[in-house]
Amino acid sequence: MDFLQTLTQRNAAFAENGFAADLKIIPSQKTMIIGCVDPRVDPMDVLKLEPGEAAVIRNVGGRVTPDLFQTMAILGTVSRVGGAGVGEGWNLIVLHHTQCGISGCYHHAPGLLAKYMGVAEQELPALEIDNPYKSVAIDVAALKANPNLPGGLTVTGLVYDVATGLIETVVPSGLLRAE
Ligand SMILES: [Zn+2]
Repeated sequence: MDFLQTLTQRNAAFAENGFAADLKIIPSQKTMIIGCVDPRVDPMDVLKLEPGEAAVIRNVGGRVTPDLFQTMAILGTVSRVGGAGVGEGWNLIVLHHTQCGISGCYHHAPGLLAKYMGVAEQELPALEIDNPYKSVAIDVAALKANPNLPGGLTVTGLVYDVATGLIETVVPSGLLRAE
């Protein structure tokens, strides 16, 4: 059986048993998570999210990029249309991880990575691509520096260690901006 058939079967079982038709478009825990596409670090798995609890944005590295800001702007609009604008009382979590493949791009195709991050190639070292404990702080700071995001959000920076399965709080929770 090929994998697509397996997935189709699993979906049929999901629709039969675990499916909740009453989930809302607004995450029940008013939480937005920015994480990496790496299959080892899916927030649904490592944070044991329940369906509908959080909106998860995944890109390479879980980095704050120009595209990420565009996605967040669209999500802000979607939330307002859905009846609960993103703002006070919401959690924004940046989740970086050890052994991230973004390092491979940094060392083998820096031009590609610079374009992705929206910076000149010589600015890449300042983004601490190889060090998730530093990069998560840089990205929380980048979120805090964006005046277009609602200030009432609480933002937190976490690093997940793929060798232990544990997260560490690197940037403690704080308001995106002092109101
Ligand atoms: Zn990664």
